[in-house]
Amino acid sequence: TSSPTTPKSSNYHTLFLSTSLSTNVSISNHLQALTHRPHIASSEANSQAANYVLKVFTSSNIPSHMASYHVLLSYPLSRSLLLTTTPQEPPFSFSLKQEPYKSDPYAAVSGEVVPTFHAYAKSGTAEGPAVYVNYGRVEDYLSLRKKMGVNVSGCVVLARYGKIFRGDIVKNAYDEGAVGVVVYSDRKDYGGGGDDGGRWFPDGKWLPPSGVQVGSVYQGTGDPSTPGWASSGGDGECERLTKEEVEKEGDVPLIPSLPVSGADGEKILRSIGGPVAEHDWQGSKDAPTYRVGPGPGILNLTFKGQENIASIQNVIGVIEGAEEPDRCCCIATVCRYVILGNHRDVWTFGAVDPNSGTAALLEIAQRFGKLQKQGWKPRRTIILCNWDAEEYGLIGSTEWVEENRELLASRAVAYLNSDCAVGGAGFNAMATPQLDELIKKATQQVTDPDNSSQSLYEAWTSSGTSPLIGRLGGGGSDYKPFVQHVGIPSIDLAFGGDTADYPVYHSLYDDFIWMQKFGDPMFHRHVAAASVWGLVALWLADEEFLHFDYQSYAKELQIFMKPKCVESQLNVKNLEDEISNKDINLSPILKSIKELEKAAININDQRKEIEASKGWRTWKEYQMKVRDVNDRLMMAERAFTDRDGLLGMTWHKHLIYGPIKNNDYGSQSFPGIGDAVRVAKNLQTAESWHRVQHEIWRVSRVIKHASLVLIGQL
Ligand code: GLU
Ligand code: ZN
Ligand code: ZN
Repeated sequence: TSSPTTPKSSNYHTLFLSTSLSTNVSISNHLQALTHRPHIASSEANSQAANYVLKVFTSSNIPSHMASYHVLLSYPLSRSLLLTTTPQEPPFSFSLKQEPYKSDPYAAVSGEVVPTFHAYAKSGTAEGPAVYVNYGRVEDYLSLRKKMGVNVSGCVVLARYGKIFRGDIVKNAYDEGAVGVVVYSDRKDYGGGGDDGGRWFPDGKWLPPSGVQVGSVYQGTGDPSTPGWASSGGDGECERLTKEEVEKEGDVPLIPSLPVSGADGEKILRSIGGPVAEHDWQGSKDAPTYRVGPGPGILNLTFKGQENIASIQNVIGVIEGAEEPDRCCCIATVCRYVILGNHRDVWTFGAVDPNSGTAALLEIAQRFGKLQKQGWKPRRTIILCNWDAEEYGLIGSTEWVEENRELLASRAVAYLNSDCAVGGAGFNAMATPQLDELIKKATQQVTDPDNSSQSLYEAWTSSGTSPLIGRLGGGGSDYKPFVQHVGIPSIDLAFGGDTADYPVYHSLYDDFIWMQKFGDPMFHRHVAAASVWGLVALWLADEEFLHFDYQSYAKELQIFMKPKCVESQLNVKNLEDEISNKDINLSPILKSIKELEKAAININDQRKEIEASKGWRTWKEYQMKVRDVNDRLMMAERAFTDRDGLLGMTWHKHLIYGPIKNNDYGSQSFPGIGDAVRVAKNLQTAESWHRVQHEIWRVSRVIKHASLVLIGQL
């Protein structure tokens, strides 16, 4: 009963990986074209970059369009930072400028780079004694208060970048009563700490002393003026919050902040006296001794920003699935989507962030174009997305997801993201667990770009990365609306990208020359990124059955429920002690995970039975069975979402994976339970412990729902 026109898709997959189709030269050319000018969201240059992407898509025989939105973006009008060390002398005024490097080929256009700022920072002036707060985490303030007796209320805090989302650095400071925030890049983290000869760009990969990490301090997701709905239609054509209402939502900061360079941070540190900071808080070997203050140095910072409704453009390319829509009437009306996404907007030139990913996406588009010429048509529809305004708060992707939520919820098989596709060596992946196996398999098919005698899988698994695959609970890139808001199985792929791999993140120096010298001189990592990313997409688009492994999902949840793991995730010393005498019972979750495991085994068996029936069922009957199993595999992830979402963060619907409070980059399992335990530990009331039990029940219910979807019987 095999379909007469079924293409031998595996031949195309082999062709997709063949060297005749993949060239490091064309990827490098794309990257150069995308990064020849700075192209922040809503700039003319970014709209040119959008046209470039659109052209590559369409010339690869991929019908494409712009999906535009009008959204609230923030730009700097003026900034100043003054440091008073002695009342007798006038304050020192920082230049807040990143120095162009010698023989910088982009010097002529570097004036187009936006002045260093924090997007959506509060406009105003803050003045107060400087306090050093290490990385600005909750635990840093705790040790300031408890160990050093320092209270930051009324102070301007100096925090270093590197451990948490910068929006949380500002939020945590505000919660502690600070009036302003200065965030700098410490040499120890971004300057090589004197190691590696301390060589900074262009002589080494490290961030130069004047380098500054720009970035958003917005805590929400998507356009701040349309929370939860799309900013679609022209300006004035959709409901929009006023400036006051945006502030009331609570996601924009309420105190001003500025990012500064390592050199400026060090200068401020020299003005801070008081107790010597603990060992872990110190800088590199030759740095001055850091003290915590407050003062005597007084910081005076002023930020004036402008918030405007601006137009942004996502580029969307669609390769329509051939077999499913064309076949018989009952399957014809529904298609399924495999979605690849990467953002295009940058803070400066964006050679790593995100245009290494854009170049890889363009490479995939061209390889798909060549496959189409050879007669390939995917079974399912493939959608290539190039997002805008990610840097501001995942805005382009979120508006699109909010606008298309129902279609995506009923048709999206998976979302495959790559942001900084290449920021150094070493493969990294994050995923929802049913996709783990597929990623592993794909890396077995691709050669390690840094050692052609082994597979990427061998390089990756011998690198000591633990856990091998991370989870997508937090923010940080465009997978967030797909996973957190809709419950779509997702992955995120990258080479390198840690601070030590890629210290020029969000600075003037993230340009093509940096990539050529340090990130990927041969562009082989780019080729490998495109190969893994595209191959996963091809498998998901072409294979008769979706290779989703829910046994692996259940196993993952089981591991999480092991006492040690639960305790560390929930940030408690000993869960049993914490919850004993409180009438709290974890068994509903344990039971639901067992059911999920059974359901996962059951659907695998069903699949095998259907495959065995290929010989005797009619084609139509067979395809209906296949579709039924695939739909259940697709929808099971949706079942982990709950329409009420997480308490206090109701846009976040996923109850299994979510962001960490006070660090949006972090991911935690069972976020609702974790937050409830933290609150209850604080309040120690019967009611707050009762809420812990309520959250346990909610999680166990969504896991049960997922099992019911997999089983497929009412
Ligand atoms: N990728 C951007 C950043 O890290 C935005 C992240 C977000 O808003 O979640 O600054
Ligand atoms: Zn990015
Ligand atoms: Zn970025």
